[in-house]
Amino acid sequence: MKVRFWGTRGSLATAGPETVRYGGNTACVELRAEGAPLVVLDAGSGIRALGASLAADVTRIDILLSHLHMDHVQGLGFFAPLFRPGLEIHIWGPPSTTLTLRERLTRYLSPPLFPVALRDLAPDLVLHDVPTDEPFELGSLRVTAALVIHPGPTVGYRITDGRTTLSYLPDHEPALGSRAFPEPAQWTSGLALAAGADLLIHDAQYTEAEYAVRVGWGHSTLEHAVLLAREANVAKLATFHHDPSHDDTTIDALLKAVDRGGLNVFGAREGQDLDLASRLT
Ligand SMILES: [Zn+2]
Ligand SMILES: [Zn+2]
Repeated sequence: MKVRFWGTRGSLATAGPETVRYGGNTACVELRAEGAPLVVLDAGSGIRALGASLAADVTRIDILLSHLHMDHVQGLGFFAPLFRPGLEIHIWGPPSTTLTLRERLTRYLSPPLFPVALRDLAPDLVLHDVPTDEPFELGSLRVTAALVIHPGPTVGYRITDGRTTLSYLPDHEPALGSRAFPEPAQWTSGLALAAGADLLIHDAQYTEAEYAVRVGWGHSTLEHAVLLAREANVAKLATFHHDPSHDDTTIDALLKAVDRGGLNVFGAREGQDLDLASRLT
């Protein structure tokens, strides 16, 4: 499987010279595997450039949404493949007990927040509640989704092609309610999704000082991400959902200071390509 980061920022797109290395676009990750449709994880502002780069021979795209916060859906209306005739597009999102996925997406993709309603924008779009009770298949890929700790219905994903495994937990606060995170004998949010993954893409939005005043906001510190990754025995951790107030220099300094405990850790950078079968970052 091959991964490309199109958006790594959390909360709000943050363009400017001081974020040019790690990137300013919000969450969007492309996943390619042989025998599978093109998979797109989240539809943040990074999805616009992904759409513009797509080859003409792509016939099906599956967009897997972790949840519906704006930073994960705001690029949808600007995803040019929605207007390409004959291209099949599916959107998967977490189930809600009150409104369908279409109704929830239409709250943003309709006037006055957006000039066109979702049904007029992309009449052939296929929407699915993502199953959280059993894995499902997208061609050669097996996808497991599970609810994780974050405000509102939110899922994390575990995707495998049988050879390599990716775990995607972009907005996640597994330490919430835990006295000494992680607690090995206790259930830990996201741990089963991450177990043994070749690459874990995980929320690392806050410093410890920022987290101290934002407990319950749904995000992790870099230290929490490292601890969860070590507990899950992953091969590599890509820190993700960079805070808008953290410029490139700040992210470099945080990564340099963290106790990695031997783990391969790097900050996800917009435009970065990774081959999960490769040992290199
Ligand atoms: Zn987010
Ligand atoms: Zn969120």
